[in-house]
Amino acid sequence: MRNIIILGAGLSGLSCAYHCKDNYKIYEKSDRVGGLCKSEKIEGYTFDYGPHILYSIDTYATELIHKLLKGNLYEKAREAWIYHKINNIYTRFPFQSHLYGLPKNIVKECVIGLFEAYTNPDKIKPKNYKEWMYKVFGKGITDYLMVPYSYRIWTIGPEKMNYDWIKRRVPTPDIEEIIDGAIRDSSKEAGFNIEFWYPIKGGIQALPEGFLNYLKNIYLNSEATRIYLNKKKVEINHKIKESYDYLISTLPLPELVKIIDEVPTDVKKAADNLLNNSIYCVNLGIDRPNITDKHWIYFYEDDFVFHRISFPMNFSPFTTPEGKSSISTEIAYSKFRPLSKDTVIEKAIESLKKANLLFNDDKIEVTQILNMEYAYIIYDLDHRKNVDKIHSFLKENNIISCGRFGEWEYFNMDHSIISGKKSAGKLNKLLY
Ligand SMILES: Cc1cc2nc3c(=O)[nH]c(=O)nc-3n(C[C@H](O)[C@H](O)[C@H](O)COP(=O)(O)OP(=O)(O)OC[C@H]3O[C@@H](n4cnc5c(N)ncnc54)[C@H](O)[C@@H]3O)c2cc1C
Repeated sequence: MRNIIILGAGLSGLSCAYHCKDNYKIYEKSDRVGGLCKSEKIEGYTFDYGPHILYSIDTYATELIHKLLKGNLYEKAREAWIYHKINNIYTRFPFQSHLYGLPKNIVKECVIGLFEAYTNPDKIKPKNYKEWMYKVFGKGITDYLMVPYSYRIWTIGPEKMNYDWIKRRVPTPDIEEIIDGAIRDSSKEAGFNIEFWYPIKGGIQALPEGFLNYLKNIYLNSEATRIYLNKKKVEINHKIKESYDYLISTLPLPELVKIIDEVPTDVKKAADNLLNNSIYCVNLGIDRPNITDKHWIYFYEDDFVFHRISFPMNFSPFTTPEGKSSISTEIAYSKFRPLSKDTVIEKAIESLKKANLLFNDDKIEVTQILNMEYAYIIYDLDHRKNVDKIHSFLKENNIISCGRFGEWEYFNMDHSIISGKKSAGKLNKLLY
């Protein structure tokens, strides 16, 4: 048996251990397992680090999620909407399939643009995400919503991004569906998570905790502070040094590269050039019942500080005291669009009032800010080149980097679980 060290006890690290056939130890810097899938309890409310809904098209991940949650799961039909300040209206998500209800001139522009894009004989491959949007949706839809929303969530312009990540992310309904959704109030759902699951009790943290029944050797409050490549040792909390045969890291790639003792300059540069956004999640507990029956709402206009708000009380009533409502807002920032933590609650409340979701006489009984420094990786135009360079260096040095920030890909929970499983699979092959 060889020694495997796993860094990080988020879903990917836990899944790797669950599928590992060898001796392993998990070191996690936090005082709890779960990583981004932690939940916080405050005065009777439960909030996730950005509301986390479960869905998967992968049969194995689906079965494992159900096994881990042992029936502690609601199945919900998605109520996802988009807010438009014009006339204070909502249209269903995804925007492109549900134009009905918008002012007629906007619908007309969107449909004409779509028709022009559809009939355009030009076969040139788009060079970036913005060109891809124009090619697929046309000018109306792209200019009205796609570009502004892109800025809100990614904090950079879509012309600076590639579109490798689009599959299963941006719904691309066919022209018939789009026209149907433009001429009548069609509630036909489109997209990838039409139905979703959410833990009945415990918030999303119930999922990583489900792994604990099957795992051992998890060391909490244990941060990897240095990796000695030649000696194959990891230093924990600047003190003890542990030897390994293979190291599995789920740390964000830039953080991993920082703690490795000897890194070639080009690899360091590649890690420095990786881009990600960060998110403040401003959570509010409101002393008013049933603010809405929606699950979440997207915002794309600059008048609002957030790109999405969700209502945990509608995911599970156990997240919110009876007779009250809960709101979770997600606010993206980055070095390209910095945002001070000191003013973010105030800005979130102001934006909620502008959207008529909160009123001056509402009693806000709980406020909370959760910060996710690494939230979404940004697919800039050099993404693939930089990630490949770092991964090949790690591979040469017996380090397998997995998970959302270890692979540096737009992974959902199911992808992260599968990423951990695949790493264990690689190890199992290497060892036997
Ligand atoms: C705002 C937001 C909303 C999301 N919503 C959804 C959703 O609705 N549905 C969905 O399926 N997915 C969603 N996701 C994605 C999901 O959270 C991730 O795919 C998944 O949690 C990633 O797990 P991971 O283990 O790869 O990474 P992480 O959860 O980041 O785990 C990494 C772990 O490493 C630990 N660590 C870091 N540095 C060290 C160190 N030096 N030493 C030891 N440990 C260390 C961290 O503390 C952490 O526990 C969302 C993500 C975000 C940001």
